[in-house]
Amino acid sequence: MYATKSKKMEKNMAQEKLVLGFDVGGTKIGVGLGSSEGRILGKARIENVDTYPEDVLPQMVAEAKKLVAGAGLTMAGIAAFGISAPFPADPANGIMTAPTNNRHWRNVPILQYLRDGLGLPGCFENDANCGALAEWFFGAGRGCKDFIYLTMSTGIGGGIIAANHLVRGGRALSAGELGHICVELNGRQCNCGLKGCYEAYAGGRALAQRMQEELRNKPDSMIMQLVDGNVGAIDMVPLEKAVRAGDPYAVALWDEMSLRNAQAFGMFINMFNPERLVLGTLAWAVGDLYTDPIRKYLPQFCWKEPMEACEIVSSELRRDIGYYAGVAAALNYLKEQDEKKR
Ligand SMILES: [Zn+2]
Repeated sequence: MYATKSKKMEKNMAQEKLVLGFDVGGTKIGVGLGSSEGRILGKARIENVDTYPEDVLPQMVAEAKKLVAGAGLTMAGIAAFGISAPFPADPANGIMTAPTNNRHWRNVPILQYLRDGLGLPGCFENDANCGALAEWFFGAGRGCKDFIYLTMSTGIGGGIIAANHLVRGGRALSAGELGHICVELNGRQCNCGLKGCYEAYAGGRALAQRMQEELRNKPDSMIMQLVDGNVGAIDMVPLEKAVRAGDPYAVALWDEMSLRNAQAFGMFINMFNPERLVLGTLAWAVGDLYTDPIRKYLPQFCWKEPMEACEIVSSELRRDIGYYAGVAAALNYLKEQDEKKR
C-alpha cells in the first residue's frame, strides 16, 4: 500500500509545474514562486515601486532568481512566469502604457524584459483577469467551468471564465470590464469617462466621492461624526458602521448600492449562466450585510433558472489573492499553450 501511495505521490510531483508570478501594484510588487498544486514555495515583496522602471525591473529579476535558488531549484525547473498588472496597458505586447499609480512608468515593455531577464516564457494579464484565474485555480472558483469574478473594491473589475477559458475578447483584449456596463442612461459620471456605469453606483471610490459631496456641509450627519468631521476620511468603513446603526441616509445609500449590484449581477447571470459569482474585497470584509440585500433584489433582474443555478460567494483567497495572481496567470498560460499544441 505504501508503495502505491509513494508512486502516486512521485507521479504528482513529476506533473507538478512550478511557475513565477509577479503582482504589480501601485506601491509594491509581489513576487511568488508557486506550483500547479496550489503550493506557494516562496514569496517576496519589492517596496516603493513608484520610481523609475530602470531601477525596479532588475529587482524583479533578482528577487525571482533568489526565490528559485532559495527553494533549492534552478531556472531550468521553472516552466513559465505570469505578470498581473493594472490597466491601462497593451496586454497583447505586454506593455504597461500609463499605469495610474506609477507616474514614472510610461510604455514599459515589462513582459519582454522579464522574458530576457529570466530566460523563461511568460504572459501578461490585467489584474482583474488574474484575480479570476487565481480564484479559478486556487480559490472559490475551483471546479467551475463557467464563473465570474468581481473585485468589488475601490473600483469594480471583472474576470470571466466561460466554457473553461478566460474570456479576453477581441483586439482590445478588454473583455470582462464588468464595472463599466451602463446601468443608467445619462447617469452618474464615471471615472472612466462614461456616464451611468455600474461602478459609478457601487464602486468604493465612487461611493466615497458621492458621500463626500453630499455630506460636506452636514456636520451633524452620523457619517460625518464617525470621521470627526474629516470629509476626506469618508469611505466604505464609516458607511458600513452607519448602516449597522440604522442611520437613514446610510441605509438609503446602501439600499441603492444593493439594487445596482443586483441589477448588474442579473445581467451577468442572464448573459453567462455562471455556476458562481465570486466577489472580492467588500463582500468578504462586510459579510451578509453586503450579499443578503443583493439576493433580495436579484429576482427582479434575471431569470429564475440561471439565478438558482448560480451561487454568490466571497473570495476564498481574500488578501492573499495577490500572491496567487501572477502564479495563476502563468499556469493559465501553460494550459493555453498545451491546448494550442493539441
Ligand atoms: Zn465607467
